Amino acid sequence: MNTVKAYLPAEKFYQRKDNTIRRIVLHWNGAERRGDDLARRMQTHKAFYDYIIDRSGVVYQLNPDYTKLAAKHVRSNNLWTVGICLISPGFPPKKPKYPWSHIEETVHGRLAVHTLFTPEQVDACWELCQYICTDLSLEMDVAIEPRKLSADVLDEYTITGHFQHQLNRRDPGLNLLQELDQRAQKHYAEKHLESAAAQNVAGATLLPPKPAAPLGLAVPVITKRVPWYIKLLRAAIDWLLKLHLKAVK
Ligand SMILES: [Zn+2]
Repeated sequence: MNTVKAYLPAEKFYQRKDNTIRRIVLHWNGAERRGDDLARRMQTHKAFYDYIIDRSGVVYQLNPDYTKLAAKHVRSNNLWTVGICLISPGFPPKKPKYPWSHIEETVHGRLAVHTLFTPEQVDACWELCQYICTDLSLEMDVAIEPRKLSADVLDEYTITGHFQHQLNRRDPGLNLLQELDQRAQKHYAEKHLESAAAQNVAGATLLPPKPAAPLGLAVPVITKRVPWYIKLLRAAIDWLLKLHLKAVK
């Protein structure tokens, strides 16, 4: 992940206090701007993000400490969310101006054409989401519902879009969330397979020992042959012992 530090003044941010971060909110903004240009403009903007990802996939880190400071990017949900903005015009202009691909998708029940993010942006967004979720020990659960969600439903997810929080927003479109959801599912399926394989290997080395054979079969009884002179000697001792006992009586 190619990250550039472009910190905004700490006074601009809210203090998270003891609000634990619950989820990431994704946005589009900035039309065709360069990442450093949008990051600079955020200095005077009312709304701003924790991170910006430009069209070439470079990540601009605006928040010097996202675990303590909260950006202002989503209505009533800033204190427990992290905001990532991917630079995009969002909607194509009437006259084609941008060389980027578009997609038709339905959000809030309304069909519209949205500008697609570049593959570099999607890759960087995936890496950044993975980084944040790992850092905060959150599972990557991506919301792919094409509509506004209630607070309870939003809390079931860790990666969401701005439009799922507000009816008057359509960013970042549905396609990005669907792509991230597929990657997250693949990631967990692979992790699951890996851990199952690791368990199998461990199981092979930790097999219970074979049960011991019954003693009589496993250990043959060895009958030693006693030489004749020993037999004679034992008999003599026995006879002498008997004589001695008789004598004592
Ligand atoms: Zn937004």
